Amino acid sequence: MTSTSPDPFGPDNPAVYEKDSPGEQAHRIQIAVPVPLRQVFDYLGPGPVAPGSRVLVPFGMKSSRSVVGVVLSSRPGADENIRLKAIERILDDVPVFTDSMTGLLLWAANYYHHPVGEVFQTAIPVKLRSAVGIENPLREIRYRRTTHLSMPEIGKLLERAPKQRQLFRQFSDSSEYSLAQLTDAMATATSAGIHRTLKSLLEKGMIERHERRDRPDEYPVTGFQERLTDEQRTAVDSVIESFGQYRSFVLHGITGSGKTEVYLQLAQQCSKSGHQVMVLIPEIALTPQLLERFRSRLGGGVTVIHSGLSAQQRYTSWWRAREGTATVIIGTRSAVFTPMKQPGLIIIDEEHDHSYKQQDGFRYHARDLAIKRASMENIPILLGSATPSMESIHNVEKGKHRLLKLSQRTGRARLPGIEWIDLQKHRQNGGLTPQLLEAARTEIDNGCQVILYINRRGYAAVAGCTRCDWKARCDRCDAWLTFHRKTNTLRCHHCGRIARPESHCPECGHALFYHGAGTQRLEEVLKRQLPDARIVRFDSDEVTSRSRLEEILSGIQQGDMDIVVGTQLISKGHDFPRVTLVGIVDPDQGLYSTDFRAPEYLFQQLVQVAGRAGRDQLPGKVVIQTAHPENPYLKLALGHDYSGFHQLCLQQRKAAGFPPFGFMALWRAESASPGAAIQFLRHIRQIGSNIRENRNYREVEILDPVSSPMEKLAGRYRAQLLVKSNLRKPLHDLLSSWTSEMETSTQARKVRWSLDVDPTEMY
Ligand code: ADP
Ligand code: ZN
Ligand code: ZN
Repeated sequence: MTSTSPDPFGPDNPAVYEKDSPGEQAHRIQIAVPVPLRQVFDYLGPGPVAPGSRVLVPFGMKSSRSVVGVVLSSRPGADENIRLKAIERILDDVPVFTDSMTGLLLWAANYYHHPVGEVFQTAIPVKLRSAVGIENPLREIRYRRTTHLSMPEIGKLLERAPKQRQLFRQFSDSSEYSLAQLTDAMATATSAGIHRTLKSLLEKGMIERHERRDRPDEYPVTGFQERLTDEQRTAVDSVIESFGQYRSFVLHGITGSGKTEVYLQLAQQCSKSGHQVMVLIPEIALTPQLLERFRSRLGGGVTVIHSGLSAQQRYTSWWRAREGTATVIIGTRSAVFTPMKQPGLIIIDEEHDHSYKQQDGFRYHARDLAIKRASMENIPILLGSATPSMESIHNVEKGKHRLLKLSQRTGRARLPGIEWIDLQKHRQNGGLTPQLLEAARTEIDNGCQVILYINRRGYAAVAGCTRCDWKARCDRCDAWLTFHRKTNTLRCHHCGRIARPESHCPECGHALFYHGAGTQRLEEVLKRQLPDARIVRFDSDEVTSRSRLEEILSGIQQGDMDIVVGTQLISKGHDFPRVTLVGIVDPDQGLYSTDFRAPEYLFQQLVQVAGRAGRDQLPGKVVIQTAHPENPYLKLALGHDYSGFHQLCLQQRKAAGFPPFGFMALWRAESASPGAAIQFLRHIRQIGSNIRENRNYREVEILDPVSSPMEKLAGRYRAQLLVKSNLRKPLHDLLSSWTSEMETSTQARKVRWSLDVDPTEMY
């Protein structure tokens, strides 16, 4: 994958390293530099530098800037004939990356054909992406000068000690400084060197140090352990038997079957044996309950990592994981890069969730990386879901993953019955049929709660003219604007553009109408029809902060709410014991998509949201409004028929050569000028086709470039080029040569382009 290059921009400014410790031999150091190039670079080091350490190196024309790279390897002796630039500074005494993490990241750069330096950059905590020394945030040691010495005494003590004198100058006032701050201020020495100098100053009594130890928050363990059902027991035991070796498991458990309880008991067992557990979840902010459950069972050893935390908080969590004081690390996608001192187990909750795929920059899939990581760390991994992905099901069939099943709901809870209302036969008012309204009224009258699910926020999908064909469109995207009544605005849900709504048609002056319901309209209709009901909206316009989220969730849990009108935010893992009816208002949007994964997504969404009903003693019911009751996917969802669904889906994928049977990569390009992106993809295609012919990669099919399904987004025109293969190897071999040719192509500078390996979204 990566080729080494002695000096990418010619031998200008060939710095020669001054050896400060004469005994050491110069080393040739291979470094991953955070630049958009698919190669690693060689530099000259004063001696060996441990792989996984960060270093500051010059880069670019005339070495105009310094960047933080990561050492991949280090070998003695520099070739006399090649002039290497020297490393400016070694930033870490202890490597940031362990060997297995370095191995994982190299594998990822290779697999995703992404610039290796950017891959490493992604995996470094934000705090360490600049040229600062690494500093343990849990154990803060600070230094300050002592006050009892007179000037002549100081002068005498520092005689013939230039390094100490230089460092002591930093302590001009009575402020306290950390090692990292001092390293930054000195710039010329390594932090190890400064550490030695500090020691001398301490011994002479010229400075003093004090230490502040940050203690992890105390969480008393209050939760109790459930007695496991037989299926749960089997699942837990199977994974425990695999502790200490790589094994992958799929935990297919219907909603409410006690998957989380399995995670908890595994985490307890694993931490008892002195090992750490990584738990990846799709969305932390939406599921505070899950975090609470872990804390109540495992106490303060539970640490979280997600994008809602400040860089400092994330750094602290990262450190706890690295040091081993965190026994359970719970995080979203990027937490897969968290170091672990004693890795024991990885759990991926809702493994089918799309949020595990990074959709820009380094487009990795956290589930797939986690599987690779587990195999490299030689630990088991558990992929849990009520609706496992087709990839995971297929891997079970191929014998790669072992299947563990939870087929019953726990306690007395039962799966809800599912009914449908045929929209061809029944009229709707603002999205609701009288039947669904009645069903809701009945539940509320019985003191129960109702969820109405519609995956569109705002008031109306389209604002248009009743006479001519005019509709309010976003002028930056190929999309209609959504009307929001609360704010009286038209909004584009793709680029965020906000416009004032017209009162009359700008084309013909006729009155406007609003078509297609969103959460706001549903709420309005309900308020009119059920004036006594307490209604809350649960969408991203309403759930704007963590505290608002908690307020709404506890309102629902305590029974202060009768009806929840929600988007897919409501489907994610919440446990509402009093919900007895889930109404699915408009599943049909999902049936019209051209994406081959759309049926899978629809099925997953339906099962997840239906899973909110009947989670406790009260029996639940799901009502679906649809104009397509005959649709095979809907029918299978209605019957809770998972295996029927898997069979149908896999059969269709196989026939079309789609994943998991075939392998895909998608080139994307975008440009502000129309036609430029597709033009550029034709150029890419030509390059790829030539390589394919020359190397005879017959299995690989390179399609024609096309405009993206939504061509215009935020003012840019987008196009894509699909590459398919029924074998993985020729595809990846082709991509390797292809990407390196693209980097040198002069055309590649005019258009923004990227390569998406195993794409999950095709628009
Ligand atoms: P899932 O994660 O599959 O949706 P949970 O683990 O949240 O399911 O379990 C659903 C509910 O059942 C929770 O309230 C949980 O405390 C309870 N539960 C889990 N396992 C058991 C068990 N073995 N016996 C009784 N109740 C259980
Ligand atoms: Zn008109
Ligand atoms: Zn837009």
